[in-house]
Amino acid sequence: MVNIEKLPEFDGHELILRFSDKFTGLRGFIAIHNTNAGPAVGGTRFAYYKNEEDALRDALRLSRAMTYKCALSHVPYGGGKTVLMAPRSPAMVTKLKNEKYLRAYARKLDFLKGSFFTGEDVGMTEHDIKTLARFSTSIIGRPSVGELPSYWAALSVFESMRVALKTTFGNESFVDRTVAIKGLGNVGFDLAQMLHKAGAHIVAADTNKERVLHALKHLPNIRIVSAGSIHTQKADIFSPCALGGDLTKKVIAEIKAKIVCGSANNQLATPEDGMRLLKRGIIYVPDYIANAGGLINVVDELHSGGYDRKRVQRNTIKVGMTVAHVLSESKRLRRPSNKVADKLGRERFEA
Ligand code: NAD
Repeated sequence: MVNIEKLPEFDGHELILRFSDKFTGLRGFIAIHNTNAGPAVGGTRFAYYKNEEDALRDALRLSRAMTYKCALSHVPYGGGKTVLMAPRSPAMVTKLKNEKYLRAYARKLDFLKGSFFTGEDVGMTEHDIKTLARFSTSIIGRPSVGELPSYWAALSVFESMRVALKTTFGNESFVDRTVAIKGLGNVGFDLAQMLHKAGAHIVAADTNKERVLHALKHLPNIRIVSAGSIHTQKADIFSPCALGGDLTKKVIAEIKAKIVCGSANNQLATPEDGMRLLKRGIIYVPDYIANAGGLINVVDELHSGGYDRKRVQRNTIKVGMTVAHVLSESKRLRRPSNKVADKLGRERFEA
């Protein structure tokens, strides 16, 4: 039996629920980290884990990160997460994750009615979310409500870049600035469109040829380079918008840009990489602040008066104020911005 409180990811979590259903093969954990500010929110991840301990640890880590993200996004919610244990073989995934399975999960969610709201994350599809929403009132990010979160994530990255430009060059204009975007998926492409409109030059990379062709069709002036060399491009901003873990010791040593600001979650390979960026004089906008627009959009559905696009727009643009505060504290204290952000987040939700 695992001693949960001894796990490195445990951080005084308020509630941890292990659930299973022998008829459908459902097995997973819901972790609620902190609800000081309001009910917990966080996605449902469907992924393969070697064992229950690994799944639990991921739920603890991800739910804690959500509390910080909510606190820094100024939304009145806390952090939670569901981790569903998927089979290893992709062929088995579709067989397992059927309507009965999702209905069994929806029933577990209803045990927590009102204290945890969840939506799409890795391994869950739009169709899964629609199905869950039929059986549970705890589902957010429903495709029929609001807009695609990727647009809002791109907008908060764009606003964060604007503040970072002002902090670095004393001028927030994108005209004739160059931005190197890694990943032209949902967020990366929307961001490229915003940057193009604002007058920036764009150099980009994506390992998926179709995404590159799609981007070139709409933005023919983009310069495409290889995924392995995108961070070494001569640019003002490097924007990781693909997967996490991009900012390794090696990559940081090779970055030419003065600013790193992108949507990918968990960009720093290790927490120490924040210090490496600071030592190289690179301004780093912590990922969970830069991409907060996605969260701001999705939780707006929970507002008593319903979803309001104008409010989402206002709150997403406000992310820039948090970025300005974190970057100026980082400069003043000579502390890595990720550490400054974590401290600010903790102060907010503990208050
Ligand atoms: P996506 O899957 O649509 O796009 C990711 C893109 O990155 C894909 O086109 C993929 O081909 C490309 N890619 C993968 N590995 C690459 C590599 N090594 N080099 C270059 N390109 C590579 O995902 P998305 O929705 O655009 O999200 C992008 C990132 O932002 C993810 O890390 C996601 O967790 C994060 N994020 C997304 C949202 C959202 O609302 N979509 C919100 C917050 C954060």
